[in-house]
Amino acid sequence: MRSTHKRAACPGCCPDIKAAYFEASWNFSEEGHPPTWRCNNCNYEMPRREMRRLTHRTRSQEKALERLPDAIFRAHAYGDSSKYEVKKHEVEDSGHGTIFLTFEMGRIGDEGTLAEAFARDHRHIAIGRRGGLELLNAKRKGESKGWFNAVHGLVN
Ligand SMILES: [Zn+2]
Repeated sequence: MRSTHKRAACPGCCPDIKAAYFEASWNFSEEGHPPTWRCNNCNYEMPRREMRRLTHRTRSQEKALERLPDAIFRAHAYGDSSKYEVKKHEVEDSGHGTIFLTFEMGRIGDEGTLAEAFARDHRHIAIGRRGGLELLNAKRKGESKGWFNAVHGLVN
């Protein structure tokens, strides 16, 4: 597994000692949601470099990558897929076995509208070697694991 937390000095709350607890996150207010380390204490965010080592994907992962986008799209097009389109579809290998899927969809032509800001569905999903799923930007911590939550779970 890649590391999802670290201890380091935090410019926001403890610049001189490596005592702040940082969690791997994404900057959800910035375009493209770049990866960040977020301080658990003061929410200070600093850039996080993602590992980019090539790994072999398992069959379970390939299957999940194949089926998830379609399932998410259908679940969030509310029965009218002609009005929606995929805005972002990225796959990233962590280099440690886990794969990350970023999938965003929204109304066709919503760019620059309120719908872009509020009605898009944006998901970060971790896919484990055996196909285990975790919705990383789940709204509720307890509702992040498994296929149902990956596809339908409320997101931040
Ligand atoms: Zn801090």
